[in-house]
Amino acid sequence: MVWDSTIIAYGTEAQKKRLIPKILSAEEIWCQGFSEPNAGSDLASLQTEARLDGEHYVVNGQKVWTSYGWVGDWCELVVRTDANVPKHKGLTVLLVDMKSQGVEVRPLRQMTGESEFNEMFFRDVRVPAENVLGKVNDGWNVAVSTLMHERGAYGSRLHPLFKRNINRLIELSRKFQKNGHAAAQDPLTRQKLAQCYAEIEIMRLNQLRAFSRITATGAPGPEGSIQKIFWSELNQRLQQVAQEIFGPYGQLLGGDSHAVDKGIWSYGYLRTRGNTIEAGTSEVQRSIIGHFVLGLPKSY
Ligand SMILES: Cc1cc2nc3c(=O)[nH]c(=O)nc-3n(C[C@H](O)[C@H](O)[C@H](O)COP(=O)(O)OP(=O)(O)OC[C@H]3O[C@@H](n4cnc5c(N)ncnc54)[C@H](O)[C@@H]3O)c2cc1C
Repeated sequence: MVWDSTIIAYGTEAQKKRLIPKILSAEEIWCQGFSEPNAGSDLASLQTEARLDGEHYVVNGQKVWTSYGWVGDWCELVVRTDANVPKHKGLTVLLVDMKSQGVEVRPLRQMTGESEFNEMFFRDVRVPAENVLGKVNDGWNVAVSTLMHERGAYGSRLHPLFKRNINRLIELSRKFQKNGHAAAQDPLTRQKLAQCYAEIEIMRLNQLRAFSRITATGAPGPEGSIQKIFWSELNQRLQQVAQEIFGPYGQLLGGDSHAVDKGIWSYGYLRTRGNTIEAGTSEVQRSIIGHFVLGLPKSY
């Protein structure tokens, strides 16, 4: 839903034929090599460079926070191919086989205890020139297309999960006690549960709106940022309500026999902190909405 969409939009026929079936069948896992130690929100400042040498690009540099880098078969890698033009104009996207010589992936430990994302180092990695996605030095547009698909469509994957969580939370609120009553009888808890329930329905409708636009125009629009802010902040609110219902039990990790639902709620609370950062921070999403949806002048 992210890489396949970008490859459909920018790939050559050979790239589409080789790569898309295995993305759809999940035989090949992809990762997104965008962020670097000095380039996150300001992605266009990235420094990983690729130099053309005959039929290959030679890549050197470092990426960071790469989700699923450790299981990735392929990487959509954004590199600098021209350092002598304005920063947005010297970028290119390469499709990199993660088994190439010179690729090193190191785990980064998150506060959940798992290592979902990674640092990636590229040392003289040779990538066939035919693996350029889109045009050379047009990588900014290709990368933005990936981000817009990610922001516009990700909510569809998350909606069933949120729905499952709110239903389970409503069930558990009848069992957990608050001020001598079931939490479900506490007026404030009831308000918060109902609010989350309503917002999850809004999230579903926002997603349908985003899909309608993609169906009508073939591409996601900047309003995908509305959905990104909405689901990420909603998920944090939902997990906060869960913690309020469970009290200290909510903080227990999976290995503890008193943990609620084998620790999925303590895990969820910690993992949702990253939701408002991944795929672009909430501040950046609000800037995009301000400029591209509301027509406000660009921030300086
Ligand atoms: C769980 C998780 C998974 C991730 N997966 C990937 C991945 O697979 N691939 C990948 O490439 N990256 C990934 N990232 C990295 C993510 O895209 C970046 O962390 C994010 O873009 C922010 O960049 P940064 O961390 O460098 O923070 P910075 O850009 O340094 O931002 C720091 C703070 O300043 C604010 N800020 C920065 N610029 C502005 C501005 N212009 N206006 C207002 N506020 C601003 C930000 O909102 C933030 O609060 C992941 C991150 C997380 C948390």
